[in-house]
Amino acid sequence: MSLIPDQFQFSQSCLTLFDQCPRKFYLRDVKKLAWPAPVTHQLTEQDAKIRRGQAFHQLVYQEALGLEVSPLLQQDEKLKQWWVNYTVTPPDLPAGEHLSEVELSVPFEGYRLTAKYDRLIFTPSGEAVIVDWKTSESPPKYNQLKESWQTAVYCYVLAEGSQHLYGETAISPAQISFVYWYAEYPAQPVVIAYHETFHQHVKAKLQNAIQKITQLRTEADFTKTEKKDKECPQCQYRSYCRQGEVGHGIDVEDDIETIDFIALAEIEF
Ligand code: SF4
Repeated sequence: MSLIPDQFQFSQSCLTLFDQCPRKFYLRDVKKLAWPAPVTHQLTEQDAKIRRGQAFHQLVYQEALGLEVSPLLQQDEKLKQWWVNYTVTPPDLPAGEHLSEVELSVPFEGYRLTAKYDRLIFTPSGEAVIVDWKTSESPPKYNQLKESWQTAVYCYVLAEGSQHLYGETAISPAQISFVYWYAEYPAQPVVIAYHETFHQHVKAKLQNAIQKITQLRTEADFTKTEKKDKECPQCQYRSYCRQGEVGHGIDVEDDIETIDFIALAEIEF
């Protein structure tokens, strides 16, 4: 019997995690273990980055709601710079209906596939634009983003579930595009066009990945990563693997993606 419960929700975050380390996926998303307490109460550099990224997402969200954002800007200079970048060099987004912090899920392979969007834009001409705010220090890489689980899951879920936002005609894959905007690199947005062939490729990729995960039968089947030097030193679950002292590092973007903002819409069908 599969160790993945029937009500499990697959997301870009968990699929990315499985690729990084199947055991870490099992500990975090199947067993839902809390990671051990940090060895120090002082904020690490990594903690500060996560909090800053969360604060930036909160700023953009508050601005979208028409709320005052200045109190949050007192937090630190880097956050102020990101906000300047956002206000001076914002992404070139189309007019239309802008929805912020929307969660959408669709059935897939007997489970659910979920995407949590920073922003969705529906234009009067029937286009749909997905926007994602990135606060990583690394510059954007087109091919890496195009091949990412985030692009795959977010576009697929929107194409399959869009009509349930308004009860209108479904949006075809060719009408969907994805804009990644980087707070550190505001003049280098990455725009990815989705289309029917891409959609079928993503569907097959998702089927393969989810079937592979759900066919695992024992905890030992969720093997430890083969890239121990890269993944383990920064893993918050390393004490469960007897990999030395408790780690405290967290993938910044991944943690930001899992923030539970109050979604304006949570839609399932
Ligand atoms: S310590 Fe390494 S092997 Fe263990 S869960 Fe973390 S990444 Fe995987």
